[in-house]
Amino acid sequence: MSFEPVIGLEVHVHLKTASKLFCRCPVRYGTDPNHQVCPVCLALPGALPVLNRRAVELAVRMGLAVGGSVNPRSVFARKNYFYPDLPKGYQISQFEEPLVSGGAVPVALDGAEPREIRLTRIHMEEDAGKSVHGEWERADESHMDLNRAGVPLIEIVSEPEIRSSAEASAFLRSLRAILRYAGVSDADMEKGQMRCDVNLSLRREGSDTLGTRTETKNLNSFRSVEGAIAAEMARQAEVLDEGGEVVQATMLFDAERGTTHVMRIKENSDDYRYFPDPDLIPLDLDPEWIHEVRAALPELPESRRARFESELGLSAGDARTLTESRTLADFFEAASAAHGSARTVANWLVRDVASILKEREGSIEDSALEADAFAALLGLVDEARVTARSAREILEVLVEQGGDPEALVRERGLEAVSDAGVLESAADAVLAENPEMIERWRGGDKKVLNFLMGQVMRQTAGKADPAAVREILARKMES
Ligand code: ADP
Ligand code: MG
Ligand code: ZN
Repeated sequence: MSFEPVIGLEVHVHLKTASKLFCRCPVRYGTDPNHQVCPVCLALPGALPVLNRRAVELAVRMGLAVGGSVNPRSVFARKNYFYPDLPKGYQISQFEEPLVSGGAVPVALDGAEPREIRLTRIHMEEDAGKSVHGEWERADESHMDLNRAGVPLIEIVSEPEIRSSAEASAFLRSLRAILRYAGVSDADMEKGQMRCDVNLSLRREGSDTLGTRTETKNLNSFRSVEGAIAAEMARQAEVLDEGGEVVQATMLFDAERGTTHVMRIKENSDDYRYFPDPDLIPLDLDPEWIHEVRAALPELPESRRARFESELGLSAGDARTLTESRTLADFFEAASAAHGSARTVANWLVRDVASILKEREGSIEDSALEADAFAALLGLVDEARVTARSAREILEVLVEQGGDPEALVRERGLEAVSDAGVLESAADAVLAENPEMIERWRGGDKKVLNFLMGQVMRQTAGKADPAAVREILARKMES
């Protein structure tokens, strides 16, 4: 039997605030356990929450960035459950009246029409602490680190519209780009700033009724999201093939084995006994303020991508690559303005700079390459003062340590050889060594020119102006 997956994602994202959601404890990563805590986030009796205005602003910003509607009134609710990392015995979240309703995230997959995945809602909540198992003196001990308790989160809930694990990844990538562009979150999955729950059901190919879903919790890398989807698809298909029924459950993904197993039979929202938190008044937002937040939004990846295609004439692939990160897109625009040809700059960025960065496992953010120097180097290529090959060598230096391209060209003796006398004699020498090539050329085999050019390049250590060499060789063989 052939089944297709139906996937809905719930994504938890840390907001980029200086302090926690309801207290003044700082939000920092990788510090000593239980050093960023206070009576509020430790849930000491009598402590009261005070809402962080900046967190609300960032959550609203995200809602607007995905085209959702920001509700002028939303309500914080207590989600009650017992868990050691949850000091209050409840999590402050939003339930019936979330901050944002609707919205959508664009996804683009190679070879498929771009589409949008609709969002159900975005709500605010606080993060829980972290249990640490077996990392202290004794392997059988568990400890609790509450530094993370109370860190501001948004939960972004998608509609069940995602159709494959590749599309789930594309959705997360697109979401992450928006979060970063809008300055809402660094969304670094390795730091736990973006975590994902996968809801998945199967249905017969072509059917439009939804099957029973399971929820696989707390996936914190693209690889584990894709792995969990593959594992859960296989597990459910086996159940259905044997004539069984999928039971609604919360699953855990075992990344080592690549399998999912039941953690608990799914609780309903009833089990959480949600009710409005009496310590917090409803959140009433001034429409004027929402307008201000909207006005301050930067250009977002999707519109920038479209603009790079339509205004700057980039290919769809280049436009997508160059808008994946805001820093890269900014760099590209600055270099294009300095150089004059967006397409030349895009070519060099997507091809050469990307491969140099990849070799070094670096990114444009932490490279020494400056837009002006990059543009100046490409200018030298345009003027045929350095060959593309030499420029590539200079580019590696610029990425590594920065500098002035002209000075680097001089220091390294990489000025292109366009001196006619030098090129003529190099061409003469190569032709004298390869008389049979001249015969082949005259017999119509024009490809030999490439070989001969390679030889001249070798003689001039890659510094000969290729156009000039081509012209000289062809002229000499004709005569
Ligand atoms: P909760 O997890 O709080 O019970 P919902 O029932 O609203 O919340 O669903 C949460 C997620 O599950 C959403 O992302 C939604 O798209 C997804 N979902 C709901 N029904 C299905 C289904 N039949 N198959 C796959 N995903 C589903
Ligand atoms: Mg859920
Ligand atoms: Zn605190």
